[in-house]
Amino acid sequence: MSKGILYIVATPIGNLKDITLRALETLKEADFILCEDTRVTANLLNHFEIKKEMVSFNAQSESHKIERAIERISNGETCALVSDAGTPCISDPGVRLVNRAIKEGLTISGIPGANAAILSLSISGLPTDSFVFEGFLPQKKGRQKLLKELAEENRTIVLYESAYRIEKLIEELAEYMPGRSVVVQRELTKKFEEAWRGKPAEILADMPNKTIKGEFVIVISPKDWKETE
Ligand code: SAM
Repeated sequence: MSKGILYIVATPIGNLKDITLRALETLKEADFILCEDTRVTANLLNHFEIKKEMVSFNAQSESHKIERAIERISNGETCALVSDAGTPCISDPGVRLVNRAIKEGLTISGIPGANAAILSLSISGLPTDSFVFEGFLPQKKGRQKLLKELAEENRTIVLYESAYRIEKLIEELAEYMPGRSVVVQRELTKKFEEAWRGKPAEILADMPNKTIKGEFVIVISPKDWKETE
């Protein structure tokens, strides 16, 4: 029996119109869909009138779900991995599954689409020829050490942050890298999308304190970069 395929399928990060034709085709044709939160993926599938078996797959349930998925793909089934939003495996579950599938000699195929970091970078106006993606900074252990290292970084830096900690993060940037140009983008592709640009202290002064909601990407200029007219 020929083996199936593992598809890594990017989904929209807010605007459902950002789904790709290939993503829809793949979700329709897959035998089952591995998803972070079945309720979130059910919304997506319902919107596009797709009915499909969904299997929850998150950081907690990963280990035994991986083995079961690998077995099913090895037996000829086609699997699509999606996350709640954006590209799976990028600050989202899936890396161990892909790794396991590679070791098993299975075919892995990526269906490209939305990713908050790349979108944010592309509209930041900051250098894009070389950048580092740090995702979410560690909440406790190693956070200060990493911030000190990033203060010396000479490539553009891209970070993810949630609404709960965005103010704290910008305060830390004001402390560790006060002279950098920073772009904070909120709710990309969504109705209330907005952006703040400036030095960290200027952004802090501009952001409506404590009431802010939504999802954020932070792009920070390289250490030696100077804005030109
Ligand atoms: N895999 C996703 C991707 O490809 O971008 C990222 C998942 S990560 C768990 C979620 C974080 O991504 C959010 O906390 C936020 O930092 C960022 N993010 C996702 N969607 C966003 C959006 N529409 N606007 C701004 N940031 C977003």
